[in-house]
Amino acid sequence: MRYVSTRGGPAVGIETAIMGGTADDGGLYVPDVLPVIQADDFPRTGDFPAIASRFLEPFFAGSSLAQRLPRICSAALNFPLPLRQLESGPGSLAVLELFHGPTAAFKDVGARFLAHCMEQIIQDGVFATAPVTVLVATSGDTGGAVAAAYHRRPGTRVVVLFPEGRVSPRQEHQLTCWGDNVVSLAVRGEFDDCQRLVKAAFADAGLRVRHRLCSANSINVGRLLPQAAYYAQASLNHWWATGRRLSFIVPTGNLGNAFACVWARRVGLPIDRIVLATNANATIPDFLATGQWLPRPSVPTLASAMDVGNPSNMERLRQLCGDIETLRQEVSAVPVADAEIRSTIVDEFRRNGLAWCPHTATGLRVYRELPDHERTHRDWAVVATAHAAKFDTIVEPLLGTRIEPPAELMSLLARPSRFETIAPDLEALAARL
Ligand SMILES: *Cc1c(COP(=O)(O)O)cnc(C)c1O
Repeated sequence: MRYVSTRGGPAVGIETAIMGGTADDGGLYVPDVLPVIQADDFPRTGDFPAIASRFLEPFFAGSSLAQRLPRICSAALNFPLPLRQLESGPGSLAVLELFHGPTAAFKDVGARFLAHCMEQIIQDGVFATAPVTVLVATSGDTGGAVAAAYHRRPGTRVVVLFPEGRVSPRQEHQLTCWGDNVVSLAVRGEFDDCQRLVKAAFADAGLRVRHRLCSANSINVGRLLPQAAYYAQASLNHWWATGRRLSFIVPTGNLGNAFACVWARRVGLPIDRIVLATNANATIPDFLATGQWLPRPSVPTLASAMDVGNPSNMERLRQLCGDIETLRQEVSAVPVADAEIRSTIVDEFRRNGLAWCPHTATGLRVYRELPDHERTHRDWAVVATAHAAKFDTIVEPLLGTRIEPPAELMSLLARPSRFETIAPDLEALAARL
């Protein structure tokens, strides 16, 4: 399998796509031809690492990682990703819980897989240039997941940029509790400034070469691919159990999670509808409604990990679809305001005693608001992107109850935190690289 840029650059191997993050022409890497992978290709008895390994095989064919894929999947994808059935049918509702990893958000899947791939690529000497610097911008959860995945991993240094004061206190702690090979920088600005800085650093040939910059953002194909694998697993389990295709509602910011679902369906997995739930940052819903792509500065919301005004992965979706009509058939998108996020967290808790994070709440809201015929003719899964305990300062006052953090999150919160603050410009970042 070869990878090409969304802007048409030359084809490269997956090692280059993973280590480079973005293509030299500024575009994002995509497979030159999508493989065909269908339900019958999978072992029915497989656990997630086995399913992921089978799913990823054609994407790594011919690469130095191909033989090692089963081992990388077992090592990196070693936590449960359960599909929890909440309401049965017509219009059944399940929640795909992606928050049982070390930092309690779905970002652990991509970050851990990517870290294992990069370590292997460096060890193999395909890029005989260790140490590399993994530069990552985060709206909250990516940075923690990447830091956790790379912490004390030989051959890599991690620099995390997060928007000062725009992440939850527990997220901030997860971004700043590492030390060793991890540097945490609070940027005076918002997520879009962090993302802009990362892009500027990569565009600066001097910095890029001197620090051997690698990207671990959700634009990295090494993060998207394992995410597509959990859509494979969830849709296959549902298909084998019911003979029906599963529809997904995906809380969406930078479009990494939802785009992975689009790939999973395009290669042939039994996935029905894909609905994006955004917060008040409605660049994507507005685009689908008007056909005009108008990226804009982000506004802060309760679902802060989705505060993205210029979602990067849209470039992949637009390239895949070609025109707006095809795009409208591929996905739909619904924005959810903060007041609706609050009321959904409360309503869902009253309904079944379950507490969800503000991001997951956008998805549940979209499910509850589906037109009747849409809801009842399909089987739905809302993607739960983070554990509610990560957003305790929002969720606990709404519910008037304490939410017990998972054990791994507790142990991170016990570590001391340290970070520096920088201005939102490239000089300030370059001085800290
Ligand atoms: C990152 C994140 C999102 C948004 O995911 P994208 O891939 O950027 O669309 C949603 N919820 C949580 C909890 C996140 O951390």
